Amino acid sequence: MNSPYVPGGWQSRFTRQISRFLARDEIELDLDHAIVSVSFDDFPKSAVTAGAEALEARGWTGTYYASAGYVGQTTHHGEMFDADDLHRLESAGHEIACHTWEHLDCAKSSPEEVITSLEHNERALRELGLKQPLSSFAYPYGETAPGIKTALASRFQTLRGVRPGVMRGRADRNLLPAVGIDGGEAGIQRAVDAAEALAQHPGWLVFYAHDVQANPTEWGCTPEDFERVLDAIDRSGAQVLNVRDAYAAITRSAA
Ligand SMILES: [Zn+2]
Repeated sequence: MNSPYVPGGWQSRFTRQISRFLARDEIELDLDHAIVSVSFDDFPKSAVTAGAEALEARGWTGTYYASAGYVGQTTHHGEMFDADDLHRLESAGHEIACHTWEHLDCAKSSPEEVITSLEHNERALRELGLKQPLSSFAYPYGETAPGIKTALASRFQTLRGVRPGVMRGRADRNLLPAVGIDGGEAGIQRAVDAAEALAQHPGWLVFYAHDVQANPTEWGCTPEDFERVLDAIDRSGAQVLNVRDAYAAITRSAA
């Protein structure tokens, strides 16, 4: 749990590929303007102290995919969230969303194991004081399988992965693409480019981040990197909504 995980092997690559094409549930996006959602996974305290503060300074809210098994722990992302962070985020209007409790890899687990883990996660978040319903889910490592997509589809409005992309026209609500705010200078530049491209080609772009700190992990970014991406979002003219509110706006406009 405390070491970085690198998914690998031909079997998981194969599962990842077929998962994109099977067990889809397509939504229509008929957007006359771009929508951006900023999310955090797992999540470390720096996603609150640096991340939420930067979003709030612009009047925006984010989505926090929480793994309650990390509460009170220190991982490679730094000190992880606790009950105070949940309360602070919830009272400021951010969305708290679901991940698996112990960061279980969904592609290597049965639907029953995944459901046990996310129900455990929801119970733990409620015990920490969470009030809002959990509307959104993200697959740890972005990994899933067709049977998992089907099993989770009735429980959440959206299920998010980590494959980069912008949703235009049609999208699979069971496997939303997302662009990382990570990967050092090259990765941050890709995130900035993705946001800037929205001005010409509107769509729904979901970002995901982890730690936001001076010496970030490979899956994190510095506070300055984070601001660069937020500046690019601002310049694009996109409406910024958390994942739950973006999904509501998109399905309302398509109805
Ligand atoms: Zn995660």
